[in-house]
Amino acid sequence: MGKSSKDKRDLYYRKAKELGYRARSAFKLLQLNEEFHFLDDLERVVDLCAAPGSWSQVLSRKMFDEAEGDVQGKKIVAVDLQPMSPIDNVTTFQADITHPKTLSRILELFGNEKADFVCSDGAPDVTGLHDLDEYVQQQLIMSALQLTTCVLKPHGNFVAKIFRGRDIDMLYSQLGYLFKSVVCAKPRSSRGTSLEAFIVCLDYQPPANWSPKLDNNVSVEEFFHDCFVGINKLSLGDDSQLPEWHESVRTVAPFISCGGLDSFDSDATYHLDEGDMAKIEKSLDPVQSPTNPPYKRALELKRSGKLSSCV
Ligand code: SAM
Repeated sequence: MGKSSKDKRDLYYRKAKELGYRARSAFKLLQLNEEFHFLDDLERVVDLCAAPGSWSQVLSRKMFDEAEGDVQGKKIVAVDLQPMSPIDNVTTFQADITHPKTLSRILELFGNEKADFVCSDGAPDVTGLHDLDEYVQQQLIMSALQLTTCVLKPHGNFVAKIFRGRDIDMLYSQLGYLFKSVVCAKPRSSRGTSLEAFIVCLDYQPPANWSPKLDNNVSVEEFFHDCFVGINKLSLGDDSQLPEWHESVRTVAPFISCGGLDSFDSDATYHLDEGDMAKIEKSLDPVQSPTNPPYKRALELKRSGKLSSCV
């Protein structure tokens, strides 16, 4: 699909380029914030699974460019497996969020102070095997949550992408023990046809005397053992192990759509007037070219005339 045709079909894709955002995902965070206002008065923020960096751009604009008071001491750290091009006022780490060392690096940058806000827009590479993809996505959310419990200060907020699969209400009930309020929200910039949604967890309230510690040799269940003593275990995705109380403890989080009725609907087709059409005919270049795209190696081989010999 050509750039120009995507500019016409996807208004958020086009708008992201007009406003200098690296990805249309920026609008998801902005629309969630319109509803929940979690981006007010932040000092230290962690953006997990952050590449190419549109959420970090939103954070940087809110915390620095639009800030009225003193910005000294404010810090944003962005973590991704992929390298990221620099963003003003953001420290980027190329790292795996599932590795305990990543937590140490973040805490070191924060001088061992905790964060007011953690967000995660993580998505693993999909294989097309639905059950496997769902399992890996759940593991990624659990890793983000584990890291968050170690770095978020009490009363802080956490936002993460989820895919509303079979066991998602188990996750809601677990989160309900850690946060005062848990809402499942779908911004209007997120396609209605996708199972994607975001859990917005407000007011972190870790149990007294629970000190979470990340350790590669500890399972998710062991990690949360002292936190969820006597309540449901974190055995997402494993129906064969479901304990008797499983059905009775299922929780349904409130589900809301956000972004305001005046914002574009991702799945709708809009009539464009002549002025808009003229603008769209002129395709805009991407704000940031990919740093390490999967097709990079193929292009290198093609340029050196070696592509056919590898196929
Ligand atoms: N929020 C980003 C933005 O606005 O530009 C988009 C994030 S993209 C949808 C999902 C990202 O998750 C990918 O860049 C991928 O590399 C990252 N990711 C997946 N697994 C990860 C892991 N274990 N550690 C760090 N990043 C991971």
